[in-house]
Amino acid sequence: MALIVQKYGGTSVGTTERIKDVAARVKKARAKGDDIIVVVSAMSGETNRLIGLAEEMTGNPEGREFDVVVSTGEQVTIGLLAMALTGIDCPATSLTGWQIPIETEGFYNAARVKAISDKRIKAEFAKGRVVIVAGFQGVGCGGDIMTLGRGGSDTTAVALAAALKADLCEIYTDVDGVFTTDPGVCKDARKLEKISYDEMLEMASLGAKVLQTRSVEFAKKYKVPLMVRSSFNDSSGTMVSEEDQDMEKVMVSGITYNKNEAKISVVRVPDRPGIAARLFRPLTESGVNVDMIVQNISHDAHTDLTFTVAKGDYKRAIELVRSEAKEFEAEDVLGDLDIAKISIVGAGMRSHAGVASMMFETLAEAEINVQMISTSEIKISCVIDEAKTEEAVRILHAAFELGKDDVKEESV
Ligand code: ADP
Ligand code: ASP
Ligand code: MG
Repeated sequence: MALIVQKYGGTSVGTTERIKDVAARVKKARAKGDDIIVVVSAMSGETNRLIGLAEEMTGNPEGREFDVVVSTGEQVTIGLLAMALTGIDCPATSLTGWQIPIETEGFYNAARVKAISDKRIKAEFAKGRVVIVAGFQGVGCGGDIMTLGRGGSDTTAVALAAALKADLCEIYTDVDGVFTTDPGVCKDARKLEKISYDEMLEMASLGAKVLQTRSVEFAKKYKVPLMVRSSFNDSSGTMVSEEDQDMEKVMVSGITYNKNEAKISVVRVPDRPGIAARLFRPLTESGVNVDMIVQNISHDAHTDLTFTVAKGDYKRAIELVRSEAKEFEAEDVLGDLDIAKISIVGAGMRSHAGVASMMFETLAEAEINVQMISTSEIKISCVIDEAKTEEAVRILHAAFELGKDDVKEESV
């Protein structure tokens, strides 16, 4: 007998009809004799609605009470799915994060999973019941409800699969799997049969929202076999697993974009030891994550420093940097919210040259200016004008021959 974790996202449980479809799918899996844990998100649009209510109340909500409000969507879905399963003679028990408990730590609104007890879940299995778990939520050491950040139900599912040593974790969503790029932006995007944990980690953290980044970190760390597939059909999906030789042969696996960053430039900073430390320390201390950083070559003992932060942190970050920059007499601090980060990802970049130059040439031909560049072993990212995002995704997708019609028989 196997243990399977299935996770259904917002669109997959968007209406009571959809929840009945999910129940039928769960019953079918259960009929094979396996133990099943089902993790569900809030019904589509519900988390946004709850955030909207919190914003109406306080303008810029965060912290403990925000989590009390936004975690409720998932509780509705677990109850409804349990009713639907009971209605088709498939005994099921719904459980919230604190009933299990899923212990969390760190910050409200962006908590991390620390430990998961298997006691209650195993007791339900022993009674022959399917266990339905509310995604996105856990309980902190003080007993408070905490949420795991947007898209956090993916992490609930993978963390449960890791804790209970599940044989498979299936992420059911509204597309057929992981694509070469967002299928919502590029019609030509092609579904990948498989992708390595490392590539998926880069794609998720660089903007492909099909999996929350933390969920891929968990899957990689605990080697959880992860399958992304559609809840709307029976197609085979994408397997996320350890890298194999086929994956290395592929130069570029995918293209991602992220419109959620903003750029801050400190102009003519004195170029001497300790300045960067002083600039970034207040940001770290107030929980602002800095992503890309570029420092120019020094001219007459001065240099320019540019970096990016999440749009949500922009206001706080620029205020902190302005007050610091004033002290060491930087000429100016400039901000730009209209940027996007475009990235290409592929394990094969380790062994193939020329990927970066092809990316730059393709963007140049379309007269898209590259404002910042950063690279790792398996990715290259460029900051460009936000208005050019979709165009850049499409031309790069075509240039790297990632589309449906481009697949060649021989490996690259
Ligand atoms: P769920 O509600 O099931 O968690 P999400 O909306 O969080 O679903 O994630 C699925 C969406 O991710 C897709 O509808 C698609 O538009 C988007 N997406 C972005 N990049 C990719 C990609 N490379 N492959 C597949 N989907 C992607
Ligand atoms: N409901 C939460 C969200 O919309 C968590 C999730 O769907 O994964 O972000
Ligand atoms: Mg999601």
